Amino acid sequence: MQLQEKYTLLINGEHVESSNGAWFDTYNPATGEVIAKVAKATREDVDKAVAAARKALEGKWGRFSAARRSQLLNKIAGIMRSRFDELCELEILNSGKSLSNAQGQVMQAIEDFELYAAAALAHEGRTKPVPNGFFNYTVKEPSGVCAQIVPWNYPFMMAAWKIAPALAAGCTVILKPASLTPITAIVLADICHEAGLPEGVLNVITGSGADVGAYLVEHPGVDKVAFTGETTTGKDIMARASKTLKRVTLELGGKSPNLVFEDADFDAAIDGALFGIYYNTGQSCEARSRLFVQESIYDQFVEAFVEKAKQLVMGDPLDKKTHIGAIISEQQVEVIDSYVQSAIEDGARVVYGGKRPEGPQFAKGHWYMPTVIVDVENHMKVAQEEIFGPVIVIVKFKDEKEAVQLANDTIYGLAASIWTKDFGRAHRVAGQLKAGIVMINNPFSAFPGLPFGGYKQSGFGRELAMESLDLYTETKSVLAYIGEKPINPFGLK
Ligand code: NAD
Repeated sequence: MQLQEKYTLLINGEHVESSNGAWFDTYNPATGEVIAKVAKATREDVDKAVAAARKALEGKWGRFSAARRSQLLNKIAGIMRSRFDELCELEILNSGKSLSNAQGQVMQAIEDFELYAAAALAHEGRTKPVPNGFFNYTVKEPSGVCAQIVPWNYPFMMAAWKIAPALAAGCTVILKPASLTPITAIVLADICHEAGLPEGVLNVITGSGADVGAYLVEHPGVDKVAFTGETTTGKDIMARASKTLKRVTLELGGKSPNLVFEDADFDAAIDGALFGIYYNTGQSCEARSRLFVQESIYDQFVEAFVEKAKQLVMGDPLDKKTHIGAIISEQQVEVIDSYVQSAIEDGARVVYGGKRPEGPQFAKGHWYMPTVIVDVENHMKVAQEEIFGPVIVIVKFKDEKEAVQLANDTIYGLAASIWTKDFGRAHRVAGQLKAGIVMINNPFSAFPGLPFGGYKQSGFGRELAMESLDLYTETKSVLAYIGEKPINPFGLK
């Protein structure tokens, strides 16, 4: 799969330029170089995409059986598998993430399509006998035309998380990828068409979120909005979607805690905490960016954590030895650095990193060192706001009660990890954490089939699991009278 010079919109199964012929550049974050031009959609293009999605819903696609949709999803997964290496390479070129990160995420995208191929067949209504000659059954019908808006941190995987359940449920889609990373979402849509997806079922609109994204969310022709991105954007989207009472699901930001108790397997907790924050260069919604360590092991833990952080290899994302890839943009590097400076101003101490890396390999592109900040108090900005970079803050706690209180002291509630050998404590604490995903003695948060989503201001709705199909369907309840005597509710003669 070659990198193309230009990527166009995809409307009604056709690649088209934007209605005013505008383009924007997309970059390789590891070099800062422009890698392609991408069509910049207008509102007129959005209107066309919504019309195509509506027509497809009411046309051939609307008559596809669940079995046929399932076959199609499996076929898409098969094509993705056959192009695995090329997809990883494109993802790395456009996002700067490391090879191992890209491989894991592309594989998960494939498995996601396979999951929803099976789920499409298993998703069904129920029947209920009702007394006095009535009979009830429910039918799951597609929600309709869905606007799906995704962020730049997992461009391919997030597109798959959105598209697969929507297609499994029989919906049609207008996908809006992030402007920083549009390429692999467009390629995924091409693969869907190659597999035989009818025209108009999946349309891709690239361009400004604030302009065409917002317009799409407000569009009266759209029935449902599924959004992944920042909490502030999510609030704006919810307000816009409320004007026509669209169905909304929101996967938003996080500031997830990692709790290490004194009885934890020390080495496993160190390795897990490193992965929890530095995976995807810290640009993860589920990043465990607040590390709470019990006071009796705190000093020893911080020292060991920093020693191991020094072993992380940062550099060429295509090199399989690399752990830490690039930061998405220079603007994001500045955001990360400003949080580090705010921590210093608030009295915290940077014990590792806290700056751009040095060396000729980092002269181009956007980079920031894995960073460790201690002497942090939980009320500080650096401990409360999502940084979205490779920065961890470490905070001491006395006992279980304080650990839970500190962990929950945030507006977010996406994920949390717990490290302890005490079985009872692990589940007791899991029960008290206000988070959608809790990991016990491991740092892994997302597997196809397991629900992924947040509490509090990390959003609502779940992805990656069977229940996601309920978020792409309406339940119709049908009540039939099957008694012998005709009904006469008013008792009229
Ligand atoms: P963002 O909110 O800036 O943008 C996300 C998408 O929304 C982009 O496609 C953007 O163009 C579009 N957009 C922006 N403004 C819009 C508007 N007013 N109306 C409609 N669309 C608009 O987020 P980002 O910086 O791309 O991604 C990082 C954020 O995503 C972080 O907060 C991260 O935690 C979150 N995230 C959450 C999850 C999850 O599952 N909870 C997963 C990945 C990322």
